[in-house]
Amino acid sequence: MPRALITGITGQDGQYLAELLHGKGYDVFGLVKGQNNPRGVLLQEELPFVEVVSGDLQDLLSLVAALEYAQPDEIYNLGAMSFVALSFRQSELTANVTGLGVLRMLEAMRMVGGTDNPMRFYQASSSEMFGKVRETPQSERTPFYPRSPYGVAKVFGHDITVNYRDSYGLYACSGILFNHESPRRGMEFVTRKVTNAVARIKLGLQHELALGSLDPHRDWGFAGDYVEAMWLMLQQDEPDDFVVATGETHSVREFVELAFRAAGIEDWQRYVRQDERFMRPAEVDLLVGDASKARSLLGWKPRMGFEELVTTMVAHDLDQERQRSTRSR
Ligand code: GDP
Repeated sequence: MPRALITGITGQDGQYLAELLHGKGYDVFGLVKGQNNPRGVLLQEELPFVEVVSGDLQDLLSLVAALEYAQPDEIYNLGAMSFVALSFRQSELTANVTGLGVLRMLEAMRMVGGTDNPMRFYQASSSEMFGKVRETPQSERTPFYPRSPYGVAKVFGHDITVNYRDSYGLYACSGILFNHESPRRGMEFVTRKVTNAVARIKLGLQHELALGSLDPHRDWGFAGDYVEAMWLMLQQDEPDDFVVATGETHSVREFVELAFRAAGIEDWQRYVRQDERFMRPAEVDLLVGDASKARSLLGWKPRMGFEELVTTMVAHDLDQERQRSTRSR
């Protein structure tokens, strides 16, 4: 049985990837940090097949121990401080976990794998690296111009992955994934914040939704589709870097409008209020990816379109909020 170690296993992508790999017959190990981490406990309930390994991207020796224990064929480094807005307030932590964490995992891989390293490494890179975009659409050849401490840390993670591949011949890939969402998305991200608020407004549990700028455009795909691209990257003969995106872009405003409409509410402006607190010191205005390399070399393409993504998330949150309110009655 192949073996995989996933960092960031308690996040959205970690969960989808764990399910995908388990379905393919992998032994799945998940790195979980901290003592009595509540998300680790939840993980054991939701994905009981995952073997939890304790470790932290801020602690090199813990990564060495995790690799020695799990002996993975594949390492998926999805762990990060991944919320752009928070990265402005905790920039040093972001640099340490999101940036240096990648270097530590690569070093651990070198130390444990030795010469002719059999392990394969996937780095979760991000479209946020394109930031103030130099061209549209963005591809593997587009220069980076990050606009947040998160984006800067991800550029370091991407570059160090490429550098270790070039320098030490490691099998290391970087997947430049554009925004990808799902009912498992954290509530701090705009999509889930919106679909959850729409559900609560529909049920009369909430009366307004405070947002930052409605103008930014994102290329939003479905996380379940994107983890498949991660796996495909590690099955190729040669390691390489790939953009993963839908090729379509939509504004936050369009997302909001469609989400309200999916719940049968047409006059969405009545509920939405602009709030300075959710504005960012520097914004990424427009992202749209060109995933033609992934399409042709990996045979990957997104299955779920924008409208289905929004309606699926709203339907899930309506169900969840209904169940919650019945339970609390
Ligand atoms: P990001 O692309 O990784 O920053 O993903 P997010 O989901 O956090 O944000 C997507 C876009 O939505 C950004 O341009 C944000 O500025 C914008 N946005 C507008 N209002 C909000 C809000 O209330 N929360 C979040 N997270 N983003 C918002």
